[in-house]
Amino acid sequence: MSGAHMLQRLWSKIRGVKGPTRMQAMPPEQLAQMMRMVATTRPDEIGCEECYEQLDRFAELALAGRNAAEAMPLVQDHLERCGDCREEFEALLAALRAETEMR
Ligand SMILES: [Zn+2]
Repeated sequence: MSGAHMLQRLWSKIRGVKGPTRMQAMPPEQLAQMMRMVATTRPDEIGCEECYEQLDRFAELALAGRNAAEAMPLVQDHLERCGDCREEFEALLAALRAETEMR
């Protein structure tokens, strides 16, 4: 009787320890949502439209071997976080590269 009681207490102790660690392991979609929230609170963040507007120049700088990330940190910042724009940038870079090779 008392043995079972002890076991029960032990269980609740284990559960009590496991509780908070399990909370830290967030599901990826929740983590992504939090990352977005953190991202939107950044005062110097640019959106996809602004990024897209500056993408040409950014790609040209990168292609010219200049440090585009340093010259346009906000675009770089956005590309690091936005998969869509990164894809767009890579496509643009490939197109520009093909163009310069043809010349
Ligand atoms: Zn974007």
